[in-house]
Amino acid sequence: MGQTAKPTRHNRTITVDFHDETTYLALLDTPHAFVEFVLAFILAISFQLLHKASCSEGGHMTRHSHYARLRLGGLTIWRIQCTTCKAVFTVLPHFVLRYLKMRPAVARDALLATHGGLSLEWCAVIGPISPMAVYRLVCAFGRQRLVPVLTRCGLPLPRYILADEKHSKCLTDKVYLPTIVSGRVLWHLGSSASKSAMAFTESSGTFQRTALQHDPSYQVRGALTDGFDSTTKSMRTLFPGARLGLCLRHALNKLPDKLIGVSASVRQGLRAPFHTLLHRCRQRTSLRVVALGQRLRHFANHITATVGAEHGERVRHWVQAKKAGWYTVLADPKMPAMSTVLDQAHNAIDRKLFAMKGFHHPAGNQAAFLTGLAHLYNLIPYQRRALNAGKCGVEVEGGRVPTSDWMFNLQILTSGGYQCTPAPPHH
Ligand SMILES: [Zn+2]
Repeated sequence: MGQTAKPTRHNRTITVDFHDETTYLALLDTPHAFVEFVLAFILAISFQLLHKASCSEGGHMTRHSHYARLRLGGLTIWRIQCTTCKAVFTVLPHFVLRYLKMRPAVARDALLATHGGLSLEWCAVIGPISPMAVYRLVCAFGRQRLVPVLTRCGLPLPRYILADEKHSKCLTDKVYLPTIVSGRVLWHLGSSASKSAMAFTESSGTFQRTALQHDPSYQVRGALTDGFDSTTKSMRTLFPGARLGLCLRHALNKLPDKLIGVSASVRQGLRAPFHTLLHRCRQRTSLRVVALGQRLRHFANHITATVGAEHGERVRHWVQAKKAGWYTVLADPKMPAMSTVLDQAHNAIDRKLFAMKGFHHPAGNQAAFLTGLAHLYNLIPYQRRALNAGKCGVEVEGGRVPTSDWMFNLQILTSGGYQCTPAPPHH
């Protein structure tokens, strides 16, 4: 490794909607109109170009150079340059995908089918597309990191996060997917061959580093984990100031393990009051921690009274070890309490990883593939119900997407040359 770190070279491609190919081809012959069209489009989607840090806002844009991309059947692509900071932007028309020959219309169906859980083999049946092409497609979008794409949508970096891990398989090897989530949005989806705390810290550290590049003062206030040692340790290392909470639903699922030898019906009967106990404490608006402490003591006594002192003692020990993490969840109303949504996402991703295991050859890019899947998870609309109908995860969490078309949003947001227009100051 060299001594000097290579400066990050920004990919300043911008995807632009030219309505149709004829318009695009006509504009290519009229440079002034071309630049005007591009600038009007950027204005229409309320984005700005990603200038160099040194550039004072609103540098004047001019056409810079052009070249023919033979790979795209001789299609001419233009580049424009900021006259102030000299940043060069490659203008990609909407009917072309970066790196790929595939048409966006074909890619749209394949991605939706993949995201919806259809196997690659079936994707190959419904569209003129090979399984390997779908794999490459997902990887192509995954070249853009999650943090820049999400902040481009105006989402603030998450102050409260849920950190979890999925144990998965890739070929015959075990693989772990350290994940960071806030609400319905995935901020990090890494993969690690090892389940050590160091490996998890390394993986989630890529999220921390990109977040700090975006905002050097970024800090996490609270993180929820399910208590998996490496996840907890990695959070403590990366975000030393964060309060660490323990997932309440996980606690609920673990309770039966503490009642070994007790009949299933009795264990089930004890799970219900424990669920009510946690739920009631969350519903309270004040003294939540005090209430939880009291109720946990009562609950342990109740176990002693109903199934015996030995079980009561075991549950008391368990509570003693875990209660600090549960208290943390209740002490701050903004802390996430459960990881249900993430569990569902993890299971879906796990199925895709398994379905694509044949493509993860040693030279394959699993990180890009997983990041691509995470983009789909964040940007494909999933809500069918009245509340949030037709919205994607980014919108549900308060972010803004440039257009009403998810595939086009995916193209624009992962193209790299845009940034979010700062929101007008609130009065
Ligand atoms: Zn500039």
